[in-house]
Amino acid sequence: MYRMHTRRQFMWKGLGALALAAAGVRRAGAAAVKRPLDGLDLGALAGCVDLVRRSAWDGPPPKTWLLREAGQYDRLTVHHQGEWSNGATDRNAVEGVIRNVCAGHQARGYGDVGYHFVVDTAGRVWEGRSLAYEGAHVSGENERNLGIMLLGNFEEQRPAAAQVQALDLVTDCLREIFMIKRHRVYGHRDLNPSACPGRNLYGHVVDLRT
Ligand SMILES: [Zn+2]
Repeated sequence: MYRMHTRRQFMWKGLGALALAAAGVRRAGAAAVKRPLDGLDLGALAGCVDLVRRSAWDGPPPKTWLLREAGQYDRLTVHHQGEWSNGATDRNAVEGVIRNVCAGHQARGYGDVGYHFVVDTAGRVWEGRSLAYEGAHVSGENERNLGIMLLGNFEEQRPAAAQVQALDLVTDCLREIFMIKRHRVYGHRDLNPSACPGRNLYGHVVDLRT
């Protein structure tokens, strides 16, 4: 019920965002207008999910010289963190976890956290790497690929209901904004040899694309 309501709200707000998104991502051809996706209005997404903007969680600054401009997104890949979650929902605690993920990726030579969005146990959606930049989350398959990571290890534990509901919402919204076809929703294991996003989440990802 909640999902239907929020989806309907999103559709009313969605047209403006859709136009902005189309303007922002149409950059692949030589004649493409250069418009940084940093300017993409994520307002429609914020109306759809409990979105925490990057500016609000104050992550380590991206090393933009290491990042590659994104093309037009046409697929989406779901991950788990692969680390056991203690289920903490306190915002400050979650922020600390996400900052560590971001710092860890930068220490491995990435320009920024590899995922575009992170979903916590409470169902908050945290903006990660700017949509202006290609993600770093699926080896050899990052091009035009949005990355969403859920905190937890879903080989070992089950995702919280609020977390799964948030994944559904953010997937629906991103599919609408970027016009991503349903069958282009993947789990990491579909694209690389990996257990990610874990056996207790993967079945749900299959449901999302069928
Ligand atoms: Zn993964």
